[in-house]
Amino acid sequence: MKILMYNTVSDEMPYVEKWTEKTGHEVVTIDQPLNETTVDRAKGFDAITTQQTTAINAPVYAQLAQFNIKQIAIRQVGYDVLDLPEAFAHNIRLSNVAAYSPRAIAEYTLTQLFNLIRHNKKFDRAMNTGDYTWAAGGQAREIHDLTVAVIGVGRIGTALAEMLHALGATVLGVDPIYRAQNEPFVTYTTLDDALSRADVISFHTPLNDETRYMADENFFAKIQPGTIMLNFARGEIVDMVELEKALESKLLAGAAFDVTPNENDFMNQKQDITALPADVKRLIEYDNFLLSPHIAFYTNTAIKNMVEMALNDAVTMVNGGVTENEILR
Ligand code: NAD
Repeated sequence: MKILMYNTVSDEMPYVEKWTEKTGHEVVTIDQPLNETTVDRAKGFDAITTQQTTAINAPVYAQLAQFNIKQIAIRQVGYDVLDLPEAFAHNIRLSNVAAYSPRAIAEYTLTQLFNLIRHNKKFDRAMNTGDYTWAAGGQAREIHDLTVAVIGVGRIGTALAEMLHALGATVLGVDPIYRAQNEPFVTYTTLDDALSRADVISFHTPLNDETRYMADENFFAKIQPGTIMLNFARGEIVDMVELEKALESKLLAGAAFDVTPNENDFMNQKQDITALPADVKRLIEYDNFLLSPHIAFYTNTAIKNMVEMALNDAVTMVNGGVTENEILR
């Protein structure tokens, strides 16, 4: 089978090579995402896979169907880049890699929470100016004293909740789906109750009509002064104007984001700092705002699993088989 792999990064290559050796299938890699300009590259292939943050729009599915492409395997969890009705209208089956490594994202969320509560950015900046005093950063809080609201207790939220619980934190879970197996480390509650009690709010929901700008003015009005906010899910979950207001007014004690609504304009690109979107430029000036370039997933385990799972799913679906990673109608 001949598979075209869009938006391939060099880290993926060793796993692609091992997979082709093992399976005997051919994989051609290109470094552009799938879009109206690059869809022609898929002509003559049996299957395609991509990993990208830019949307795959309607004309792409029509063109793929003309090339007799029957599936798209995305090498990522979040599938908001796909247009499901368009894909299904053209009988294109879709898969994501739902659980390539939930721990990767959970561990990084925890890393940034520790960085915030220890005021590491503030201390670093002070030391760069020669100020090595304790006062430069301020007193920290300890993790076991904190109550953390995990909004979306799915794969990633669950991994994070287990880690937080192991460290002694109190974990509140907000999710329309109740999972009894999480009871040992999560206390399920309503969103309003969680917001009224949390020292830390961490988003781990998909982006959908319900979660888009879920953290709006009304949401911020319900949180406690001194809350820390973490967004390692999708940028459009949080209204960035409200976030900035909350940092400025000190309603938030800090925030760490791995995603932003306008991230496609600058993330995973070399950027002159002056060319950053104005809100991002202002936000990164805050000592208590940490921004990372959508790297929570970026571990060796995750990359290996993403490549192998997506390629296996591509083959399975072209052969008419069943995979648990299929995104169903
Ligand atoms: P998942 O599907 O296993 O879990 C998501 C959970 O959110 C589900 O339990 C669902 O019921 C819950 N949910 C849905 N709507 C909700 C709402 N309105 N309020 C509360 N809970 C709600 O997904 P996952 O694997 O845990 O991934 C979560 C998200 O993390 C992904 O959709 C993706 O956007 C993001 N993500 C980010 C990175 C990164 O590198 N920063 C990497 C992977 C995934």
